[in-house]
Amino acid sequence: MNWDKPILTDSGGFQVFSLAGLRKIKEEGVYFHSHVDGRKIFMGPEESMQIQSNLASTIAMAFDECPSSVADRDYVRKSVDRTTRWLKRCKTEMARLNSLPDTINPNQMLFGINQGAVYEDIRIEHAQQIAELDLDGYAVGGLAVGESHEEMYRILDAVVPYLPQNKPTYLMGVGTPANILEGVDRGIDFFDCVYPSRNGRHGHVYTNHGKLNLFNAKYELDDSPIEDGCQCPACRHYSRAYIRHLLKAKEMLGMRLCVLHNLYFYNHMMEEIREAIEKGEYKRYKAKKLAGFEETT
Ligand SMILES: [Zn+2]
Repeated sequence: MNWDKPILTDSGGFQVFSLAGLRKIKEEGVYFHSHVDGRKIFMGPEESMQIQSNLASTIAMAFDECPSSVADRDYVRKSVDRTTRWLKRCKTEMARLNSLPDTINPNQMLFGINQGAVYEDIRIEHAQQIAELDLDGYAVGGLAVGESHEEMYRILDAVVPYLPQNKPTYLMGVGTPANILEGVDRGIDFFDCVYPSRNGRHGHVYTNHGKLNLFNAKYELDDSPIEDGCQCPACRHYSRAYIRHLLKAKEMLGMRLCVLHNLYFYNHMMEEIREAIEKGEYKRYKAKKLAGFEETT
């Protein structure tokens, strides 16, 4: 990878649970069939920690079950209790792996993941239980899986205050620039999301005046950059019209330029967020940024 910066690895939990129908969940872990060749595979908390230890990431995520956001209360309750038992096994196994003499990253950190679908009381109780385990950081999982943005914000309002305030808090799989601004306002520090790259590959680019679809005919002769003043490699050298031409001609460079711009946009926004927080101006910054996103160009 040639990436000399922190790396976070996911546990495989979410990935296994997205294979509905191909998997069987037991106390020891999950049995599932490879979607490639049908081969039977087992993964439990120990296996997930071992794989992540071999990958030697900076942060390993706990092996959890991500119940569907529409799962019923009884199921979610049982699932969350099992996720807590799995988390304890993850912690024990990570400590064992980190103490071995040939471990590549003996300082690997473990983040726990809060679950509980849309049930605030289950979420809060789970947050209190995992907070007691004194992990390196805490994630909120099982959101951004089909529920409304308002529902996601309601859960964050309820649960984040019960996660340790002196540890990083990570909202998994989120989100749009507006979701990130709202998440930060509720105490979230970390995010991960496919939007900047996936949307970029479809010609959708983020700007301070909303999202543009570069496939639109109105950009055919538009010789301005994606966003005026943006210092990204796409905006410094190429026009909307040229990038649109590349996308229409299915030239890979069109997708690459859109992804470069979007990643730059997200990273730059995170820099601005840190700066605004340090200056004590976050509320004002957020309101101004959100108002800009509502404009159309
Ligand atoms: Zn740009």
